[in-house]
Amino acid sequence: MKILVINTGSSSLKYQLIDMENEAVLARGLCDRIGIDNSFIKHTRTGCDPIVIEVDMTSHKAAIRQVIDVLTNGNTGVISDMSEIAAVGHRIVHGGEKFHESVIIDENVMAAIRECIDLAPLHNPPNIIGIEACMHIMPDTPMVAVFDTAFHQTIPQHAYLYALPYEMYEKHGIRKYGFHGTSHKYVAQRAAVMLARPLEELKLVTCHLGNGASVCAVEFGKSVDTSMGFTPLDGLVMGTRSGSVDPAVVKFLMENEKMTPKEIDEYLNKKSGVLGISGVSSDFRDLEEAFDAGNERARLAIRIFCYRVKQYIGSYAAVMNGLDAVVFTAGIGENNPLVRRIIMENMDFLGLRIDPEKNTVRGREMDISAADAKVRTLVIPTNEELAIARETLRLVSK
Ligand code: ADP
Repeated sequence: MKILVINTGSSSLKYQLIDMENEAVLARGLCDRIGIDNSFIKHTRTGCDPIVIEVDMTSHKAAIRQVIDVLTNGNTGVISDMSEIAAVGHRIVHGGEKFHESVIIDENVMAAIRECIDLAPLHNPPNIIGIEACMHIMPDTPMVAVFDTAFHQTIPQHAYLYALPYEMYEKHGIRKYGFHGTSHKYVAQRAAVMLARPLEELKLVTCHLGNGASVCAVEFGKSVDTSMGFTPLDGLVMGTRSGSVDPAVVKFLMENEKMTPKEIDEYLNKKSGVLGISGVSSDFRDLEEAFDAGNERARLAIRIFCYRVKQYIGSYAAVMNGLDAVVFTAGIGENNPLVRRIIMENMDFLGLRIDPEKNTVRGREMDISAADAKVRTLVIPTNEELAIARETLRLVSK
């Protein structure tokens, strides 16, 4: 059975076609600059070089048509007909409190995703457009919604509620939701396999460190806390996002830097984080290069980023009253030994110590713990597309 996984942004659309017989990716790609100008599709058949086709895509519907075309046409394709796609899995950013797990999409589900637009005004609308475009072009193919927030719906109320007047929760749904749930769940499941123990017995802290970054406390297979909050701005320091700051800073900046609500939102989301501290880049490869060349602010940015991750690991060990393993995943977690080393320095107190040689690993699964460490440290590449495809298969096979 072949499953198409779709991740729609406001002007982009990523796709992967996965053969679930062996979970092999047949092809993957990106449609970019949809609805702008100079739109193009970058398409890669597994085992072949990527090809870039410049093609007019004035809408997401046009983009889906292009995806089907490159997947089925003789030169670039991997299937002979659209009917070979058994189902489509859609990544949906926000499911609010309505969705605790993935669902087959029908009219009621669409309405409920629309009701979550207020909570994710930048993300849910393009996700909805992506679903509608697919439904239009593939009306007979089942569609599944997989939510970034769903895994975190097990977080208890004392952990998800902010200390604002309770009616703000009732009126606007202001609470912690958490994101990256598909990734945290996937690496937690892989961790159990690597540790050869049931997930239901394990206390894990999973660190998803990419451009967006979050930490999750996974106790006995369930998310019990996570660092992102009402929006993906909270928690860790990120590439361009501030993470947690004293909320009074917002008012101060608005008054003293004469910022509007839109400007402060942009400032905290796009101009802050390690980019804002370093003045160099949001990308850790650039930061490390600058660090090696003696750039003090790049060094400081990396230091601050790592310090915040360390704080969460300690805090979540306390929350769970114990810890079996820390997991590093996503671009930085999988590929950056320097960051892992700084985070894990002086954690013997918690039983955590890494082996410097094993810590050189990049982009593959590895237990990087020192031989005598009581608590394991694992590097596990995430695979959100595969997780979405598995969820899709599970639901359509029911
Ligand atoms: P996103 O949140 O956009 O999916 P990623 O998970 O790709 O982001 O993470 C981006 C970060 O990961 C960047 O700071 C980059 O430096 C780092 N990164 C990604 N791939 C590599 C790699 N192969 N080697 C070193 N660093 C990498």
